Amino acid sequence: MPEGDAVYRTAARLRGALDGHVLTRSDFRVPKHATADLTGRAVITTASRGKHLLTRVEGDLTVHSHLRMDGSWQVMPVGRRTAPGDQVRLILANQTWQAVGVRLGMVDLVRTADEARLVGHLGPDLLGPDWDPGEAVRRLRAAPDRTIGEALLDQRNLAGIGTIYRAETLFLRGVWPWKKVGEIEDLNGLVTLTRRLMGANKGHAGTVTTGDRRPANQTWVYGRAGRPCRRCGTRISRGEMGAGPQERLILWCAGCQPR
Ligand SMILES: [Zn+2]
Repeated sequence: MPEGDAVYRTAARLRGALDGHVLTRSDFRVPKHATADLTGRAVITTASRGKHLLTRVEGDLTVHSHLRMDGSWQVMPVGRRTAPGDQVRLILANQTWQAVGVRLGMVDLVRTADEARLVGHLGPDLLGPDWDPGEAVRRLRAAPDRTIGEALLDQRNLAGIGTIYRAETLFLRGVWPWKKVGEIEDLNGLVTLTRRLMGANKGHAGTVTTGDRRPANQTWVYGRAGRPCRRCGTRISRGEMGAGPQERLILWCAGCQPR
């Protein structure tokens, strides 16, 4: 699932293709907005908020999209066809570029003034200009009996984190994923590290938390179940946690992250 850094890059690509240009085509292939037509309106900009994308269009309109599990926005010259079988949900095009939303998990069209209905519940955005670690910690602390692993994925606490950054951050802080939030002393250090890791990857594809960009060396625990810990040699454990259907995967080192 794309995490905050991938969504951040997607927003940048959409800005490069659409900002300031009048739409010559809009094609909503979702039942709720099948008749919507944004043709003739200029795109103002696209912002990312956690894992959400907000494409603002002239006339107080915002197209909201979410990549969910495997969605993507593909930017290509007008006229080029998408791959056969791609489930296109939305196309926004100007005279030069088309942005094609494939397998988007959510597509909404709302008044820009009403964006808060869609993203107002989110905690501080890890990559946002208004990132506020104190507020993220305050929200986490409000439920001290939750496991830190579950609390970190709750986008109402902090927005943008998914299973990769969760696993990597907890490893680097030496925190057992099932530890209770209230038992962790330095939550500020934990969320600040998450932001630093994600921020380091926002400019390029791939998730590197080790500082080593070679494909086999990029992460400490994620994707490394059963392999020896890079620090202590213990085999990396793999499990599931929480109630969400898609975000349960957790990897950890029992040596570096003891109960
Ligand atoms: Zn270890």
